Amino acid sequence: MSNAQRALEHAKTQRSAYMSGFSELLRIPSISTDPNYKAEVARCADWVRDEMRRIGMKNCQTIPTDGHPVVYGEWLEAGADKPTVLIYAHYDVQPVDPLNLWVTPPFEPTERDGKLYARGSEDDKAGVWANLKAIESILAVDGKLPVNVKLFFEGEEESGSPNMHPFVAGNKDLLNADLFVLCDGEFVRDQPSIVYSGRGIVAAEVTLTGPDHDLHSGTYGGTVHNPLHLAGKIIGSFHDDAGRIQIPGYYGAVRDLTAAELANLEQLWARTGVQFKERSGAAHFWGESVASTAVRATALPTLDVNGMWGGYQGPGTKTVLPSKAGFKVTMRLVNDQDPVEIGRMFKDYVMSFATETVSIEVSVPVAGYPFSTQFEGAGVEAVQQALVATVGKRALMERAGGSVPIAGMFQRELGIPMTHLGLGPGDNIHSPNEYIVIEDFYLAIDTAIHVLYNLISFK
Ligand SMILES: [Zn+2]
Repeated sequence: MSNAQRALEHAKTQRSAYMSGFSELLRIPSISTDPNYKAEVARCADWVRDEMRRIGMKNCQTIPTDGHPVVYGEWLEAGADKPTVLIYAHYDVQPVDPLNLWVTPPFEPTERDGKLYARGSEDDKAGVWANLKAIESILAVDGKLPVNVKLFFEGEEESGSPNMHPFVAGNKDLLNADLFVLCDGEFVRDQPSIVYSGRGIVAAEVTLTGPDHDLHSGTYGGTVHNPLHLAGKIIGSFHDDAGRIQIPGYYGAVRDLTAAELANLEQLWARTGVQFKERSGAAHFWGESVASTAVRATALPTLDVNGMWGGYQGPGTKTVLPSKAGFKVTMRLVNDQDPVEIGRMFKDYVMSFATETVSIEVSVPVAGYPFSTQFEGAGVEAVQQALVATVGKRALMERAGGSVPIAGMFQRELGIPMTHLGLGPGDNIHSPNEYIVIEDFYLAIDTAIHVLYNLISFK
């Protein structure tokens, strides 16, 4: 019997112990966004650190940040010829309201119909626990891990990771590794997927100022420049009729999908495209001549006006020529588009409309980097082969249309290859009655075991 098989056998004999340990973890209300739970988040961090220690990890510690602590542990005795794998998950959870919609209390894990209900069961204590139990199973039968492992569990993912950038930037040596495995997300037995790309985001706000106070449109209309008109002109110029963004240089760092990526995207879209359209409620999509809907939704940048204001919006007529107008924009970025640079391009473009009759101010409060993990290669193949072994299927590679700013930050700061492994087999994340399917969770643990063995030759 191979070492991997012995570890899998061991995990099987420990199933009920692993589930009762998981329930203990789930009982700690580690809600990171609510200051009232600060002590509970800290208690959860200590609990996870102690568990790391108990299973045989070394140098286990909670590391304070300006927010909630990071839990870190390592096992680096596999040898210098073996790769070092940095595994990320988060131990904090979402708030629980509305509490009355929970069938059983969110922090009293309860089993019903093969499911375990509790806040955080899928997102992302499953990611924490599956990795700990995989490591425990291997160390129990083998006394060593097949690769060097660093565990990095965050405590403020659900509150927007405000302290992760300084933490990662300040701990590059501690976190240095050959591969980063992002364990946050779903484990879907029927058809697993690996998220390999997420878009970046830039948010901007534009304020236009004309006369220093609102004027009478009968007296001054046609003689004083109306800032709302200029706002409309700017907004109207963002896209051409086909839907392509007109800001000079905007597409400079956008690359075409490879043939393999395109084929994969089409395969995924064949399953999800109809639902995507139904959920939108839109009778027709826009921008078809630029690229297919699937590509536009995930592999091209966007620019959307989220709201605009100015002048009179109440009932009836008001003959006003407004002093001020404004609008808010978000842009989603792909590939190597740098949000700081795109923010500057946007600002330069909008400012070029300023005249002596209307002044313009642009602020860019949010800038998050896009990320793309491996699409092919040894890291992703280790996950693929693990899934083939446990659920009998390769994952589809998925491009997220939304943003995971922290992933882009990891990628930039750490500069190491990255892959994604979702270990939460359930539903209702961020909602009442979050759960995992217990049988599938055992498969997630098995998958985590396989991944560690599959990575032996990653380096
Ligand atoms: Zn999460």
